[in-house]
Amino acid sequence: MAKQFKPETLCVQAGWTPKKGEPRVLPIYQSTTFKYETSEQMARLFDLEESGYFYTRLQNPTNDAVAAKIAALEGGVAGMLTSSGQAANFYAIFNICQAGDHFVCSSAIYGGTFNLFGVTMKKLGIEVTFVSPDASEEEISAAFRPNTKALFGETISNPSLEVLDIEKFARIAHSHGVPLIVDNTFPTPINCRPFEWGADIVVHSTTKYMDGHATSVGGCIVDSGKFDWDAHADKFPGLCTPDESYHGLTYTKAFGKMAYITKATAQLMRDLGSIQSPQNSFLLNLGLETLHLRMPQHCKNAQAVAEYLSKNDKVAWVNYCGLPDNKYYELAQKYMPNGSCGVISFGLKGGREISIKFMDSLKLAAIVTHVADARTCVLHPASHTHRQLSDEQLLEAGVRPDLIRFSVGIENADDIIADIEQALNA
Ligand code: PLP
Repeated sequence: MAKQFKPETLCVQAGWTPKKGEPRVLPIYQSTTFKYETSEQMARLFDLEESGYFYTRLQNPTNDAVAAKIAALEGGVAGMLTSSGQAANFYAIFNICQAGDHFVCSSAIYGGTFNLFGVTMKKLGIEVTFVSPDASEEEISAAFRPNTKALFGETISNPSLEVLDIEKFARIAHSHGVPLIVDNTFPTPINCRPFEWGADIVVHSTTKYMDGHATSVGGCIVDSGKFDWDAHADKFPGLCTPDESYHGLTYTKAFGKMAYITKATAQLMRDLGSIQSPQNSFLLNLGLETLHLRMPQHCKNAQAVAEYLSKNDKVAWVNYCGLPDNKYYELAQKYMPNGSCGVISFGLKGGREISIKFMDSLKLAAIVTHVADARTCVLHPASHTHRQLSDEQLLEAGVRPDLIRFSVGIENADDIIADIEQALNA
């Protein structure tokens, strides 16, 4: 199914193709375990000699169907669902980095990922160097070391909304013999497919647009199958030399293009167990069925809101890559010609206090920590997610004290704008 259909069809149909008499709708396999006729049959699964289900921590049919749909949408060979976007990002790096290793990462990333990479992974002996995504190829290359194992970036960063030059990042990664991992949460594969621009691994917080209805926290890793691990075998012993915890099996030899994602499933998920619950992946699948309808509406509404704000004299600044005077407009046109995402940020004249008053006056847009939801929502990072930082520290982190993150939903744009207008007047 994956290759011959267009994204709209894949959103609705990929991953689950029932046979005669089977349920039309993807069933929730609410079972921890799966039955076999003989002990020998089960043993072959444990040795990875045959594929099949035996325990939901490793694989579950509902989860696999949804992962297959996301992989088809991204144009990858296979995917794996995780319990959250945080887990997906951790596994994506930990699958190829161990204590003593290093990776390079764009500094324009989600704060939770920044902390995971810069603080928590450091405790595991894995170091990261953050680089500005806008730095030159030479400057970014200078951050690489002999023990560097990956380059990481976000297609559109949360909340700073910087657009990644994916081709530039892929060139740099490949010239150092390492994969490019891209967090494609904000545009989703409806608006951007990073594999087409040279990325090797894609990760998602499915919590955002993919679910789209704010029902389930989840994540996904998709493998393009294109990175030649064996060509850089000295860098990736975990993939290219025998795994003692799997009877000496070598992932690249046994699984070829599926080596990376098989190791993530068979080894990391086995040992760390951050699975998405089948119930949540069922809800995620419902969200995916309308992703191709929702994304254009998010983008259309966000464009209208951004244009309205940019013309309003109470507004100090607006950041949305769909505005022609935006720093990232050209890059957005190149990588996301049909629209980027529904998230915009802006500041009001009068600064922080006015921003707070404005948000408290909104009636339709809800103050929530969430982003990328069907319902318009809003957050003031300086008062919420980045509350502990001083104004100076906020600026260092790339978050202006007056920054309002406005996640435009799929309601009628006129109603969203009317809500903003009454709050501005208040
Ligand atoms: N990646 C991006 C771009 C995000 O915006 C987020 C969360 O906001 C995450 C990853 C983490 O995802 P989750 O909240 O599902 O763990």
